[in-house]
Amino acid sequence: MKELQQGFATKAVHAGENPDFREGATGDVVVPIHLSTTFAREKVNIPTAGYEYVRSLNPTRKALETKLAALENARYGLAFSSGLAAETTLLTALLKSGDHIVAFDDLYGGTKRLFNHIFNNYHIGVTFVDATDISLVENAILPQTRLIWIESPSNPLLKICDIAGISKIAAARKLALAVDNTFLSPYFQKPLDLGADIVVHSSTKYIGGHSDVLGGALLLNSPDLYEKLQYRQNAVGAVLSPFDSYLTLRGVKTLALRMEQHQQNAFLIANYLRQHPKVKKVIYPGLENHPQHALAKAQSTGFGGVLSFEIAGSRSDAEAFLEKLHIIALAESLGGVESLIELPAAMTHSSVPKEIREQVGITDTLIRISAGIENINDLIADLEQAFD
Ligand SMILES: *Cc1c(COP(=O)(O)O)cnc(C)c1O
Repeated sequence: MKELQQGFATKAVHAGENPDFREGATGDVVVPIHLSTTFAREKVNIPTAGYEYVRSLNPTRKALETKLAALENARYGLAFSSGLAAETTLLTALLKSGDHIVAFDDLYGGTKRLFNHIFNNYHIGVTFVDATDISLVENAILPQTRLIWIESPSNPLLKICDIAGISKIAAARKLALAVDNTFLSPYFQKPLDLGADIVVHSSTKYIGGHSDVLGGALLLNSPDLYEKLQYRQNAVGAVLSPFDSYLTLRGVKTLALRMEQHQQNAFLIANYLRQHPKVKKVIYPGLENHPQHALAKAQSTGFGGVLSFEIAGSRSDAEAFLEKLHIIALAESLGGVESLIELPAAMTHSSVPKEIREQVGITDTLIRISAGIENINDLIADLEQAFD
């Protein structure tokens, strides 16, 4: 009841996990992992506490869905077995054959694959535009367009979309706006407050935060869409398991603390790299020289923990640098407590054709860092020895 007035860190700890003091309950301060796949009832027509079968809902997943909704200032939340499972379920709720999507051309590769290689088989068209320019979004809208899909900041170039500006266009045309908020997490950015209709998360990243659980979520305010999504969550069946719901609940409790530390380390790494003679360019929305620094500052309360930089030299120089690191792990993914580093051209974005990579700015020497929460001196020392 009073949850709406609570601060973010308080909600991250408490929302969805109020101790149960009813007769026979034990007052757990942490929601239990309810592994039961089915729930017995005393009366044929009355499911006990509303629970019937694990795929439809179970108490551990419900606690997570409630907590994530509270963190995004959403009325409703749904948790899925992966970010892509959440996306797939959302697309089935919003679109039918013949419909069209306008999407940011710098989306997560898996989202593009879903549009281009799965949903295209069901006659759902997509037009990709540089959504950092609002007029390109508006001009791409067709009579059959139903959905606009953006991600901000993007990956690995950290481009920023004007969420409020695009939400006005979507509202005027009665289109749904979905925003993938994985990179900043609700701690730094709340797209629903900026006018978006649906927030999409890969909770595998910052929300889980410990590189040990795959998951996804949808957060929204519309009761009609929530009802449709609940139906499809159960009908499609790509739900988050009770155990993975528990791990995600455990991880998200420290989101506020972690995001502050991720950001602090990202800033310090960005500033270290900026003065390094072997670095050609640093991309981080928190730097004043980022072309959309002002927009990032206006619509978010922070800049996140991911930065990219271009190392001087060739691809083999970049590879040699990466292979010399000891603490910073050479790995895909992001958002975990451990610092991760990768070469998009060879790893996360290797499926993007080279000429398109070069065109958008993903060069062979562009390196992406997900700053972890380790001591900054150790991270800088690790980078320093790898440059030498
Ligand atoms: C990882 C990621 C996804 C996909 O999520 P999974 O949990 O891996 O299915 C979607 N969007 C963004 C921005 C991501 O980083």
